[in-house]
Amino acid sequence: MDYVEVTEHVGYVPGAVNIGVLRNDDNAVLIDTGLDKDNGRKLLRLLEEQELTLKAIINTHSHADHNGGNNYLTRNTEAQVYAPSIESGIIENPLLEPIYLFHGAYPVRNLHNKFVLAKPSKVTHIIEPGKLELIGLEPEIIALPGHSYNQIGVLLDDVFFCADTVFSNRVIDKYRIPVVQDVTRHLETLNKLEEMTCNLFVPAHTKPIKDIKPLVAKNRATTKAIITDIKELLKEPRSTEEVLSLLGEEYGLDLTVVQQYYLIQMTLMAYLGYLYDSKQVEIKLENNILRWLVLDG
Ligand SMILES: [Zn+2]
Repeated sequence: MDYVEVTEHVGYVPGAVNIGVLRNDDNAVLIDTGLDKDNGRKLLRLLEEQELTLKAIINTHSHADHNGGNNYLTRNTEAQVYAPSIESGIIENPLLEPIYLFHGAYPVRNLHNKFVLAKPSKVTHIIEPGKLELIGLEPEIIALPGHSYNQIGVLLDDVFFCADTVFSNRVIDKYRIPVVQDVTRHLETLNKLEEMTCNLFVPAHTKPIKDIKPLVAKNRATTKAIITDIKELLKEPRSTEEVLSLLGEEYGLDLTVVQQYYLIQMTLMAYLGYLYDSKQVEIKLENNILRWLVLDG
């Protein structure tokens, strides 16, 4: 793990999840903690090398790859944990992530792994958008809902840690349907991000970038194309499973892993819910099968 300094008080640790570091004198705050104990251990070693004491963790959202290191870090330091509501409930009760993926039922064993089920950690402070006072610094918490319900970003010294709001071209071209839990909020968040100017944007899963606009445009175009393609499929009534199968075929998805199936299905449900609530599709319940049908086609 390497520490990349951006300003006197702000840096990051590049990786599968880019981890933000806020520092002042001998104290540090981490923004997210990575997937697991291993990430937690490496992050703590890195802070020790920098002669920093971990005072707090800010979690941008509750997905396991962003808070899986919390458990190790909070057991081995005095760090307080800051997270927005809803996300905090899942961080404290991580079984809720596979539970929601499995429609609220007790999740099948395929969903009991660290990629969707982090170790629990106590959230000591529920955060709201606005300034936060930590280690003598005043990072600003900015709401970024959409990818997850109450995702937040952290802004300090003109460096914006913008979590999973945008994915890279490579990830989008590979996975085709990036995880979104609320499509309406996701589109609003992309608009908000596009209006922001910062010295550096640090998305969690791609390289930090000065100009976020091209990535926002790519992510918005991806969402709009998925909406169009789903509506096209719904010119005749189809069940969620049929839409998933046909869209998967169109996009060349090879869903052979149960966990991947449920993640994509959740995202598809977010799109169907968005289309229904914006009155673009209707629900047909016949023969005990729920089908979706486009309204203007
Ligand atoms: Zn995420």
